[in-house]
Amino acid sequence: SLAAEEGFDADDLDLAEHGHVPLPVLAVVGRPNVGKSTLVNRIIGRREAVVEDKPGVTRDRVSYEATWNGRRFKVVDTGGWEIDVLGIDAMVAAQAELGIETADAVLFVVDANVGATDTDEALIKLIRRAGKPTVLCANKVDGQSTEAEAAYLWSLGLGEPYPVSALHGRGSGDLLDAVMAALPEAPPQTFGMAVGGPRRVALIGRPNVGKSSLLNKVAGEERVVVNELAGTTRDPVDELIQLGGKTWKFIDTAGIRRRVHLTSGADFYASLRTSAALDKAEVAVILIDSSEPLAEQDTRIISMAVEAGRAVVVAYNKWDQMDEERRYYLEREIEQDLVQVQWAPRVNVSALTGRHMEKLVPAIETALAGWETRISTARLNAFLGELVAAHPHPIRGGKQPRILFGTQAGTKPPRFVLFASGFLEAGYRRFVERRLREEFGFVGTPISISVRVRE
Ligand code: GDP
Ligand code: GDP
Repeated sequence: SLAAEEGFDADDLDLAEHGHVPLPVLAVVGRPNVGKSTLVNRIIGRREAVVEDKPGVTRDRVSYEATWNGRRFKVVDTGGWEIDVLGIDAMVAAQAELGIETADAVLFVVDANVGATDTDEALIKLIRRAGKPTVLCANKVDGQSTEAEAAYLWSLGLGEPYPVSALHGRGSGDLLDAVMAALPEAPPQTFGMAVGGPRRVALIGRPNVGKSSLLNKVAGEERVVVNELAGTTRDPVDELIQLGGKTWKFIDTAGIRRRVHLTSGADFYASLRTSAALDKAEVAVILIDSSEPLAEQDTRIISMAVEAGRAVVVAYNKWDQMDEERRYYLEREIEQDLVQVQWAPRVNVSALTGRHMEKLVPAIETALAGWETRISTARLNAFLGELVAAHPHPIRGGKQPRILFGTQAGTKPPRFVLFASGFLEAGYRRFVERRLREEFGFVGTPISISVRVRE
């Protein structure tokens, strides 16, 4: 769960609450004072100030919805970080980097009166590395006289500079046409977002743990019979099931219900099905046969769910067969082999007797809530500040790497990016993850932390 470097992809930054179609995201990037906020105001067509900068207060990146020629998109203003001891270049680069990564296209703003500075050059390197479509805005071209200066910006290698006066509106139509050409129609489909409707559950586990028994128990036997009587040639792949007063979409129930006999390759196909179900699901209920020793396949399936970034609930089935001795060994197996999902809600159930079925839905809801948790940048940095002060990284080779600041780059699952002054050891990263969980919960969800080192 501690993703190495560069681990996270463009995500649902500030958008796509459950049930909404995600919009393509434009990040507005540039040095302070080049006119980003003014330009963002111009793009979203509002006159009121976007930014209420309180000195010394780090604010979250702000995103707004905008429309141009009937197409909707999101604009993310990447300005607003406190310029502190870190120095202007590092701060600007860091915020720009995040903005760029979480965007579908970049609007790079340069002050045409100033020309390109070293900071601009550094930002351009970041943009190149990210490989995102980029539009170059030469701002503060209020009149004809400055237009010539804007032409020099061709030398930046970002294509045509669009001369604009964000203040007066000059040139902003052409700029927006170029932006729309750079933005994809719809952002690349990322998991866990966009679809809306009932929450999507994958019921997974190795053969014979009781998946179909559990499904029949929660869905009601009759439903199954009805499906079979209908004589449909194709089983429904996903099934809507009423549970705890809500409708849930259980993914690939046909695969669960079909009696797969052990033929060669059955494991392989089971694994493919599991991975396909995980792709479509938001939360995985992982079933484990508590009456038998944990199998390697159990841990493999758990790893698949964690790596897929799904919310996770672990259900220990066949609890009706539990006795003192088995229980003792089970708890030890869990401690030893299931550390990777220590954070997952656990339910001890019996598909046979119906024991604790009512606990399943609250566990799923808890996991989904953890999966969607968002911590504000201010709260996160207050927490990180205290953590670093109380538990500094061990000194290595005469140097002490420090976490400088952090931000949550996405949810579903929560993803964090920490900026540090040096390489953070794996042990320290695990410590940070543990403390993050203690502080903010994240029950039932993997979290990813990537670290960017600033020289
Ligand atoms: P940011 O730090 O990049 O978000 O920059 P702001 O939007 O806060 O603008 C910085 C300053 O530049 C403000 O005083 C703006 O009024 C001014 N400014 C922004 N756009 C233009 C423009 O097109 N022409 C002129 N003359 N000034 C501008
Ligand atoms: P699947 O392969 O994961 O779908 O597992 P099944 O639902 O087919 O169950 C495998 C076997 O375990 C069947 O014989 C079930 O009757 C039995 N079984 C399932 N759940 C329970 C349970 O909670 N307790 C007991 N004692 N047996 C169960």
